Amino acid sequence: MTKEYKITDHTYDVVIVGAGGGGLRATLGMAAQGLSTASITKVFPTRSHTVAAQGGISAALDNMGDGDNWRFHMYDTVKGSDWLGDQDAIEYMCRNAIPAVIELEHMGVPFSRTKEGKIYQRKFGGHTIDYGEFPAQRSCAAADKTGHAILHTLYQQSLKHRAQFFNEFFVLDLIMDDEGVCRGVIAWNLEDGTLHRFAAHIVVLATGGYGRAYLSCTSAHTCTGDGNAMILRAGLPLQDMEFVQFHPTGIYPAGCLMSEGARGEGGYLTNSEGEQFMERYAPHVKDLASRDVVSRAIQIEINEGRGVGPLKDHVYLHMEHLDPTLIHERLPGITETARIFAGVDATKEPIPVLPTVHYNMGGIPTNHFAEVVNSTDQNPEQVVSGLMAIGEGACVSVHGANRLGTNSLLDLIVFGRAAAYRAKEIISKEKVVKPLRPQDGKEAIEKLNRLRQAKGSLKTSEIRLNMQRAMQTHCAVFRTQDHLEKGLKKIKDITVSYQKDIQLNDRSMIWNSDLVEALELENLLQQSLVTIQSALNRKETRGAHAREDYPERDDVHWMKHTVVRLKENEVSFSYRPVHLYTLSTEVEVIPPAKRVY
Ligand SMILES: Cc1cc2nc3c(=O)[nH]c(=O)nc-3n(C[C@H](O)[C@H](O)[C@H](O)COP(=O)(O)OP(=O)(O)OC[C@H]3O[C@@H](n4cnc5c(N)ncnc54)[C@H](O)[C@@H]3O)c2cc1C
Repeated sequence: MTKEYKITDHTYDVVIVGAGGGGLRATLGMAAQGLSTASITKVFPTRSHTVAAQGGISAALDNMGDGDNWRFHMYDTVKGSDWLGDQDAIEYMCRNAIPAVIELEHMGVPFSRTKEGKIYQRKFGGHTIDYGEFPAQRSCAAADKTGHAILHTLYQQSLKHRAQFFNEFFVLDLIMDDEGVCRGVIAWNLEDGTLHRFAAHIVVLATGGYGRAYLSCTSAHTCTGDGNAMILRAGLPLQDMEFVQFHPTGIYPAGCLMSEGARGEGGYLTNSEGEQFMERYAPHVKDLASRDVVSRAIQIEINEGRGVGPLKDHVYLHMEHLDPTLIHERLPGITETARIFAGVDATKEPIPVLPTVHYNMGGIPTNHFAEVVNSTDQNPEQVVSGLMAIGEGACVSVHGANRLGTNSLLDLIVFGRAAAYRAKEIISKEKVVKPLRPQDGKEAIEKLNRLRQAKGSLKTSEIRLNMQRAMQTHCAVFRTQDHLEKGLKKIKDITVSYQKDIQLNDRSMIWNSDLVEALELENLLQQSLVTIQSALNRKETRGAHAREDYPERDDVHWMKHTVVRLKENEVSFSYRPVHLYTLSTEVEVIPPAKRVY
């Protein structure tokens, strides 16, 4: 059967799957150090979701004269993570933010500027000076198009360093050997229908988040977490999948993002009584509290009948009191989005908003060198040879139970850079890439072939909608045992309906979007299963995981990472200790405390 598929083999030092900010920063770093580097991506690099990032990238540059310092940044990130973040990795990220962002500036990222010509920095939720005293101006911004500016620059730099691009190639699965070493990947060229196997010393997964498991999310349709699902299929674990971030301000009802930059520049939220309700929930920093806190506050206002609109099911974001020149200069993108998706002129009227799925804190566990970890009871830090992961798909873990705004672009850049340094150390010049075996990739081809011929009664889009509805209803901002159990039953049934009943109409191999979407849906379903079960399993409230039936954080039983595996639709759990230690002696561990803003 597999004979009818034409297969081409390739060999590189490094293969990077995904060309968003994380993938491209790694690609350019590896290529610049002389490693032969292939970048494989299902969409053209500059169409990756990173292009949509608005508000900025954090680094304690202190360009605005507020006395910022990387130790404050580290404190804010640990507190934001609700003490589930690994403090060694957080120290690494916050310290390296400074050189990593200056490098971006030197590569040509067109940041907005202060009067003195320095990189402009704005306020963002959860970022403070003096360990929570007052809001910091830490987010380096290129208007409200920071991701666009960074992604285009990184792509140009990767081309300059002669990385090889395989654009519009869909990676089907990892190729693992019998010793559990990653040897490469198998991919499908969407343009001409051919199959390709890539052998490499190191495979880097930089495939992004899986926001599309939900009905309303800010992420692109391509955000299906394919790399996470490849990890599960390889028998490896994912980590902390119960932590799904809702952004407080998605446009009602479409879900497109209104950047936190809007509140960073002075915007605020009100309920149906015209009250600036965040003053009650976060008296100190009000509308600039971290995202989980603001999302929950909005949800409570709505639940208690103080929402706006005919259905009282959203709240208002105000920017109309701000100087229109400032809005046009610093927030042009979201002003346009408000006009198109809500029919609102943001300089004159409030914008209707609602918490919307935005980011996945969980993902592929790694250490701070970006190496993938297969945690076991004997060795929770066991590294998987030949495999790295970075970006939203990875869980280093620097975001713990809740990510601060602007820390994701930073995570991409810092750990993309770290992966390149590590790869150079690991790959010696003399070592040759081990050739692939004839049977490598066979299973993936067989699955592709089966799906392509599928003659069931349910379209991919129908099954997907069922899954998205179930996740949105049962695994949202507030969670309870009963509600999650009902959701789990639905997701299990939907998984069976996918396996038994999917119907494909396009049987070709060229630009077969029907087949691509079916493959992505399998990936989403596997992640939905582990997400909802991880949420059921964690019986406490921490960061973005708010259990109404367990409303307190429980450090005695739950200050640990969830490690989850999936085998034939069955989930199993183990745990990995949180790193409550730092990398250097130049900063002290931040001891757990109650999280108030
Ligand atoms: C609207 C929006 C605004 C945001 N604003 C900010 C912000 O201001 N600041 C901030 O810090 N964070 C922000 N975030 C979060 C941040 O942008 C993302 O977390 C981050 O960009 C993810 O980058 P990534 O490199 O991990 O993946 P992505 O940029 O999502 O890229 C994934 C890549 O993987 C490839 N890929 C996936 N599957 C496959 C496959 N099977 N085969 C081949 N290739 C594959 C894709 O083609 C793509 O190139 C925002 C997110 C959204 C959605």
